[in-house]
Amino acid sequence: MAGDTRVGLGFDVHPFAGGEGRPLVLGGVLLAEQGGLGGHSDADVVCHALADAILGAAGLGDLGQHFPDSDPAWEGADSTAILARASALASVSGWGLANADCSVVLEAPRLAPHREAMAQRLSQVAGGPVSVKAKRAEGLGALGRAEGVACLAVALLERKA
Ligand code: MG
Repeated sequence: MAGDTRVGLGFDVHPFAGGEGRPLVLGGVLLAEQGGLGGHSDADVVCHALADAILGAAGLGDLGQHFPDSDPAWEGADSTAILARASALASVSGWGLANADCSVVLEAPRLAPHREAMAQRLSQVAGGPVSVKAKRAEGLGALGRAEGVACLAVALLERKA
């Protein structure tokens, strides 16, 4: 029925931090203890893109509005908390997650061994089925030079009964 579903698109990108200091966390899963992405929180682009998609679908603005990188509360934060908060905001507005799909763009490391764990973790946190796909940038641009990781996410929300 018209008005009972809404779709949202999310995007995020973070550069690799350089040095060895930060863990690499994607989709709420620890992929490596070192060589992670730089950013205010834990720089989990997958959680950020998905949270952005959910906020967009619910008509609640964007991620930066709700979780400004000037806010010390989110410094070094586990981004599954950001995703959970975005889902809770959508839920309070009367929307539940029908499904979501994430495309992660990166050259390395290989996501295949972690994809299922990421999908399970994201589904658990977002409260609905989330799928994860990986895509290489074929050597093009900054992503192709393995300077960072990007993620596109689409989320479909349905009005709760
Ligand atoms: Mg981000």
